[in-house]
Amino acid sequence: MKDLILLKLGEIVLKGLNRRSFEQKLMGNIRRRLIGLGKFKVSCLQSTVYVEAESEDADLDAAFEALQDVFGVVKLSRAVACEKDKDAIARRAIEYLRDDMLRAKSFKVESKRSDKSFPMTSIELSQYVGGELAEAYPNCEVDVHEPEFTVVLEVRDLAAYVHAQPVSGAGGMPVGSNGVAVTLLSGGIDSPVSSYMIAKRGVRLIPVHFFSFPYTSQQAKDKVVELGRILTRYCGKMTMEVVPFTHIQEEIRDKCPEEYFTLVMRRFMMRIAERIARDAGAKAIVTGENLGQVASQTMEAMASTQAVLDLPVLQPLIGMDKEEIVQMARRIGTFDTSILPYEDCCTVFTPRHPRTRPKPGEVAAAESRLDVDALVEEALQGLERIELNREESL
Ligand code: ATP
Ligand code: MG
Repeated sequence: MKDLILLKLGEIVLKGLNRRSFEQKLMGNIRRRLIGLGKFKVSCLQSTVYVEAESEDADLDAAFEALQDVFGVVKLSRAVACEKDKDAIARRAIEYLRDDMLRAKSFKVESKRSDKSFPMTSIELSQYVGGELAEAYPNCEVDVHEPEFTVVLEVRDLAAYVHAQPVSGAGGMPVGSNGVAVTLLSGGIDSPVSSYMIAKRGVRLIPVHFFSFPYTSQQAKDKVVELGRILTRYCGKMTMEVVPFTHIQEEIRDKCPEEYFTLVMRRFMMRIAERIARDAGAKAIVTGENLGQVASQTMEAMASTQAVLDLPVLQPLIGMDKEEIVQMARRIGTFDTSILPYEDCCTVFTPRHPRTRPKPGEVAAAESRLDVDALVEEALQGLERIELNREESL
């Protein structure tokens, strides 16, 4: 019996005229996510995406697993198709759900009918198939209130489908349906999570990492590359830009008052990120900042940092507790890599007494001895591009 995967779309269903292009984006992302798992047919009808195996070696189990990470999908089920006839549906259900029906003590049947020409109502169909299943599996009783197992029947345009209760998808919107942003990716716990959250809103990401060799090591950079690769599970293929940051940090150390080191450094990050964004058509900068977490994350400090750019800075973690962020990092699979003990450029030349509540203009005065434009230009000249592909992290 050949089964298939049904994916239910989330918010994109609401998007009226844009819906078609959203669906196209989603199907493209699904096809890309299935690369390496065999040949599949991906199609979309009535707000449902169908994924069917097309070659002998197509691995439907692996596909089902992989598609749980694709943004834009709210629910997924493994299903079998059958003729739109009550007895054909009952026979299929008895056959296909055998293991579940033998295991469970109680069940119910839920039916949905998008083909309104089907001669029975949803309730009649549920009752009929429920009766047949109860007869075939006397171990399992009908319980419509708190069933252990739910059988779902869908009578759709092309066929009827039988499946068990669906599992949750990643939610959100398809990556690429909502523009492009630059995301500042450090090796910490926070920025992989902030990147994930913005990608979930349908944004394609360009990760940017500031690298201060030899103050930060090659291992520190490898760790960020690995974090980026883990994120490709959700974000798709990305190109990371690694910015040589050593000279800027040395200049700051030599020419700025110590208490401003971090704030001046963060202004450089923003300027460089903005230039990269503009060149790539990206419309925002994403950071993992979190109100009050460190000295540079007060409202005054963030105002001084954001004063140097015009693009919006998206900070999806701003109001979260550390514990919530950690939980999410664990769930998306970045936590274990994030806690590897390599230093970040933020911990190079850290001031003993950082300025936490700078007044407007204060940080600009602190960096007045630097040739800001030349330093930004020099850093941009030295960008290193690294392609991040999921296949490489397998
Ligand atoms: P994280 O856990 O993401 O490192 P953090 O709590 O350590 O965050 P900071 O080190 O102050 O906070 O950095 C705030 C944000 O600035 C980070 O979340 C990240 O978006 C960006 N950032 C910090 N260091 C770098 C870096 N070396 N390269 C790119 N972005 C960085
Ligand atoms: Mg950090």
